[in-house]
Amino acid sequence: MKIAIVGGGIGGMALALALHDAGLDDVEVFESAPAVKELGVGINVMPHAVRELAELGLLDDLTAVGVPTTEFVLYSKHGQRIWGEPRGLAAGYRWPQLAIHRGELLGVLHRAVLERLGPARVHTGHHLARFGQQDGKVWGEFIDRQRGAAAGRVEADLLVGCDGVHSVVRQALYPNEGPPNWNGITMWRGVIEGKPYLTGRSMLMAGYSGRQLVVYPISKRLEDQGRALINWVAEFKTADGRPMPMQDWVHTARHEDALAPFATFGFAFLDVPALIRGAAAIYQYPMVDRDPLPTWDFGRVTLLGDAAHPMYPVGGNGASQATLDARVLARELALQPSIEAAVAAYDAERRPASAAVVLTNRAGGPERPLDLVEERAPDGFAHIDDVVSQEELEEIATAYKRTAGFDPETLNNRPSLSVRAASGHLPRAGTAPPG
Ligand SMILES: Cc1cc2nc3c(=O)[nH]c(=O)nc-3n(C[C@H](O)[C@H](O)[C@H](O)COP(=O)(O)OP(=O)(O)OC[C@H]3O[C@@H](n4cnc5c(N)ncnc54)[C@H](O)[C@@H]3O)c2cc1C
Repeated sequence: MKIAIVGGGIGGMALALALHDAGLDDVEVFESAPAVKELGVGINVMPHAVRELAELGLLDDLTAVGVPTTEFVLYSKHGQRIWGEPRGLAAGYRWPQLAIHRGELLGVLHRAVLERLGPARVHTGHHLARFGQQDGKVWGEFIDRQRGAAAGRVEADLLVGCDGVHSVVRQALYPNEGPPNWNGITMWRGVIEGKPYLTGRSMLMAGYSGRQLVVYPISKRLEDQGRALINWVAEFKTADGRPMPMQDWVHTARHEDALAPFATFGFAFLDVPALIRGAAAIYQYPMVDRDPLPTWDFGRVTLLGDAAHPMYPVGGNGASQATLDARVLARELALQPSIEAAVAAYDAERRPASAAVVLTNRAGGPERPLDLVEERAPDGFAHIDDVVSQEELEEIATAYKRTAGFDPETLNNRPSLSVRAASGHLPRAGTAPPG
């Protein structure tokens, strides 16, 4: 079974590794960029995705670079603490939650793909231009965008669009969909080396949607030196009278743009304007998502990750949901009697599950208490219980974990998604998986 993966980002690389683990080795990854570059800033890998990556043998590599988050805290714009909860191992999960540089996460996945599948399986400078299905096969044609020349053609049994929020595959399957939905919020992102704050491993959200700050440390190396590489995201509603900012991960912004809405933001334990001023580069991106799709099941073509379900980066679930997609698709391809049956089973399991996260994120996800406090007590509060009860706060936190697939008890006890663990079945390809 030959599988063409379109897009060598987090989802595409995770899929290549999951397929290999499931005994499906005839896999080619086609990446539009001229090289797999370790771009981006901070990203979260939640325990449900860390479990999958751990089962793929990557835990040591990931914990060598990322920071295991130990708490999730919410503060008002006045710097008043609203909520705090333990995360990762501190919350009783069997796997950590990791805050990591997106480039380093991609690096870990990419190196594992090169080692396990071989460098000849990764084709950079291959931007999918067209694809189609014929006689039970699927074909794809690629261009090298840098040279403006044809880059080749592939024939495969399955083509998986892992080509991100601007997916060419999705656009061909849903030609009338148009651009992603923008909620009017611009996100500026940067990193800065600084002193550890709070527990040293705290994920902090402050303000309210429309004027919010997200901060977490992402470097184990700096932590070992008693320092922190602090990742920050400053989110501000800029829609009024302004066009949607560029939607790429290389577009940088001026420091003053990001600083203006947060100049008076501050906490006793963190100097917010200094975070923004000190970042070497500030990346700018609109907060976008797309409506859930009616199907990802196109026979021998399907979608995965942001191509399938781009979501607001609320609750840190984009990379994690892509990882779950990868593991479920690989399992179904190994166990189902046909590719069509595997794609249908994958669609039935992952599409509704990820759609629920998209919709919950639109409503604020686990950060919803920030908006409740802003609505109910814009001038601050004497005690948080006067504004929102502990029960309400707990219910929001618990409901989000359930929806996104990281309720601790369920995650700790659910069976593995690994084909190797599914007793009584052999991978379809007939190749014994390693280990
Ligand atoms: C350069 C970059 C930097 C990012 N930085 C951050 C960050 O700092 N923080 C964060 O939270 N999220 C970031 N993201 C988004 C994040 O990686 C995703 O939301 C999430 O991990 C889901 O991964 P994905 O593989 O579905 O999409 P992505 O990680 O976006 O990967 C999609 C891949 O497909 C490739 N591609 C696109 N079109 C084609 C085509 N036609 N043919 C072949 N290949 C194609 C892209 O070059 C990319 O490598 C970044 C994405 C990119 C591309």
